This record gives sequence, C-alpha cells and structure tokens, in this order.
Amino acid sequence: MKAAVFKSFGSLLEVEDLPDPEPKSNELVLKVKACGICGTDLHMSDNCTAEGGWRLLSPGCVLGHEFSGEIVEIGQGVGGEWKTGQRVTALPWIGCGKCEPCRLGRPYRCSSVMLRSSLDLPGAYSEFCRVGANEALNLPDTVSFEQGALVEPMAVGFNAVQRANIKTKKPVFIMGAGPVGLSVALWCRFFGVEHVLISDLSGERAAASANFGATAVIDPANGDVSDQLLDHISVPPEIVFDCVGLPGTLQMAIDYAAPSARIIVVGLCMQSDNYFPAKALLKELDVCFSYVYSKEDFEKVIYLIGEKQIDPSQLISRRVGMNEFPAAFQSLKKPGPDLKVLLEP
Ligand SMILES: [Zn+2]
Ligand SMILES: [Zn+2]
Repeated sequence: MKAAVFKSFGSLLEVEDLPDPEPKSNELVLKVKACGICGTDLHMSDNCTAEGGWRLLSPGCVLGHEFSGEIVEIGQGVGGEWKTGQRVTALPWIGCGKCEPCRLGRPYRCSSVMLRSSLDLPGAYSEFCRVGANEALNLPDTVSFEQGALVEPMAVGFNAVQRANIKTKKPVFIMGAGPVGLSVALWCRFFGVEHVLISDLSGERAAASANFGATAVIDPANGDVSDQLLDHISVPPEIVFDCVGLPGTLQMAIDYAAPSARIIVVGLCMQSDNYFPAKALLKELDVCFSYVYSKEDFEKVIYLIGEKQIDPSQLISRRVGMNEFPAAFQSLKKPGPDLKVLLEP
C-alpha cells in the first residue's frame, strides 16, 4: 500500500510502498477513505525535543488520526458486530479493552495503550490502517466518509465545551479560528450560547467562523482586543477558550477574561511559557486544560451529524490525493487561510 512516511523532523513526508497491514487480535483493518490533517501532526513532525512533555516521532512512522474508512479485514476475537464493507471511524488509540480507562471509553489513559502514529500503530495517511474493534464506531448511511473524518476534531471541540461547563448562555470568547476554534464555536452555539466572539489573524478564517455560529469577529491586528470585545459585549467574557496555543496566549486569555471567569486551554503549546500568576489570582480565574475526548463523545458527534443537527462539512477547505499530500501537509505549517485539508488516498 501507499503511505506518507515520516522521515525526519522538519523534512517532507515521503510517499512509499509499505506492506499492507494485518489485523492483530481484536483489531480491524480499514481501507482509508478520508483522513484530516491535524495541527498536532504538524507540530509533531517538527518537534524534535521531548522537553515539552510530548513524545517524539520515530523515523519510518506514519501519522494521521482523524479518519474514516471501510472494514476490509477482521482480526481474531472480534465480535460479530463488525463485518467487511462496514463504514466506520475510530478512536485513534488501541487500549487493552479491560482496564478502567478502557471501559470508560478513554483508552489513551490505558497503561498498555498503543499510540497512533507510532511504529506499533501507524496512522491513516495511508491506503489501509489498523484500528481496535473496541475503539471502532459505526457510521450510519447519513454520515459521509468525509464527515466521518471530521468526527475527531468535532469531538475535541465537544470535550472542550464540556470542560467550560456552560450554564449561563453568557458570551464566550474564542481565541483562534482554526478547525479547533471553529469546532468550539459550533458547540457553544449548539448548547445555546447567544454571543460567540472569535479572533484570528487570518481574515479568511475569521470570515469562515460565521458558518460555525460565531456572531462577531475580533481582529487582533485592529487594535486592543479587550476594547474590541467591549464594543460587542458590555462586560469582559466569563468564558475564554485559548485555541491558539502559542507562548503568550494563556496570558492574553487571562488579560481578556472577566473576574471569576473560566479559561479553557485547548491549543497545544509544546514550549515553556511565561505568565503572571498574580493577574489570574487577582481575578480568581479557573484555568482548565482540555486534551481529547471519550468514546461516548464520538458517539454523540456521529449521532448529531447523522440526525443533521450539526454539519461540520464546511471545515473542509481542500481535498488532496496521496501524491500531492506531502506538499499539502508542509504548506499547512505556515499560517494561511486553510481550515481542514483531507487526504483521500
Ligand atoms: Zn486531531
Ligand atoms: Zn486498558
């Protein structure tokens, strides 16, 4: 099969012929139909130090964890609910299936988890990939393969909005209109928030945010952000999402937030960062971090897409085949107008 292989930090992925995967026990093999490029993959392919707390990629591994596909092979021990030809997406990891985190649908906390994009479990920037039968989820006919590949980024936003504990319907401010920020905007509106303000340095991305329910766009290049926020809402926001994740953005969130506000950090910053704790303390802020999602979150996202209660399709800004894929992947490392780029191998 063809796959886009990681060679070394910062260099282009290379399309190579690799042996077709074989399912181990309790695994399925999918023919990949769509796989989204995630900011995490872009970071990981450049991140050559483990200092930031993030594991290092091994040369020869294949990335890609936002995918959908069709079952083509079924491993030993897999229950009868899975058939070849079935359309699925899956949580990206494979857990033991027995421990408490696995039973709670959070296999990334399993002590014997296989992490995607490792040599043990290659990712879906390839024609075929292995998934765990416990981690797989059926896609109803009303959910396309492309939408199936968007379940993961939608679940990231879903989890972040759960962490925000939105009860008040009061305005929220989202920093960053990339796929994660837009997913957060969509869920805030879904859960009844009336005023969703979003900021981004890219005018195109900020403009796209209206399709995800954002009610106002803040351009940080256009003057003081706090002042701009007050033009739209009379008091500072009580919920702020940092969907950028660069050194300095947590401090910005602290500065923009109202007293007693809650800050949810979703953007992935792999470097050390400075902030002034006293500024957060004086406001008595709650700062929380949001990483991924549970299997139940995936189920809810699939259900809501299938019932046409949400449609994340407008996240897709480009579709590419395998040959154009390495260049498309590289191009996303620079700021630009793209949202989600899908590999359709
Ligand atoms: Zn992702
Ligand atoms: Zn486990």
